[in-house]
Amino acid sequence: MAPSQSPRIAVLIPAAGSGQRVGAPTNKLLLPLFGTAVIVHTVRAFQAHPSITSIGVITRATDQPGLQRCFGAGTARYRLLPWITGGAQRQDSVYNGLAALAHDPPDWVLVHDGARPCCSTALIERVIAALDAAPGVVPVLPMTDTVRRIAASHSEVLPREHLYRTQTPQGFHWDALWEAHQAARKAGLEATDDAQLLEARGVEVAFVEGDPENVKITTPQDLGYAEWLLHRKS
Ligand code: C5P
Repeated sequence: MAPSQSPRIAVLIPAAGSGQRVGAPTNKLLLPLFGTAVIVHTVRAFQAHPSITSIGVITRATDQPGLQRCFGAGTARYRLLPWITGGAQRQDSVYNGLAALAHDPPDWVLVHDGARPCCSTALIERVIAALDAAPGVVPVLPMTDTVRRIAASHSEVLPREHLYRTQTPQGFHWDALWEAHQAARKAGLEATDDAQLLEARGVEVAFVEGDPENVKITTPQDLGYAEWLLHRKS
């Protein structure tokens, strides 16, 4: 339900992946874009929003000294919570983030991949605005390529008019997301994003337009593209 006063919104940033696909010896989120770590750019995208009361970065314990160096003495300015330790899968990491908020929960929570440093204020606004009317909100983009499913002995083209790419930030009413994560953990249900866990309980989510520039850094090429996008914005 939408709160009567302006909602308290927390942001959880899962950043506990290994970054193997980017080919770096360190967590990809600590790599520099213009001399500033990817994760700092990601946090900055949310820092300026007046309704966002706290930001929790979820990381591997071994990355926490590196993160502390990236943010220096600025963790209070960024409204950062103490580092939250992640889990084996992204879903476990988000669960740990929610557990860290559960003693004083916000009204709404946004979950955003640490690996997406180019998230625009307009996209954050679209997600937050849609939470007035829906317990879960997902930014999506239509597929522009022809999509083919290839199995061992068979391949087929999928009708792309029904296919969308799913992005973050995804937004949720606190109770809906926390209950969905707890139920999924009990049932051993695994999902690659958070909206799927609501849908598994029959809760409908709303969709808003994503942003093609909200790139997720996965390969070394993505780093160069993200740097170019940030340079253009500055
Ligand atoms: O691996 P992928 O790029 O899909 O991960 C999406 C986000 O989830 C990344 O920001 C990554 O750091 C995070 N993640 C996590 N805990 C894991 C695996 C991934 O927080 N165990």
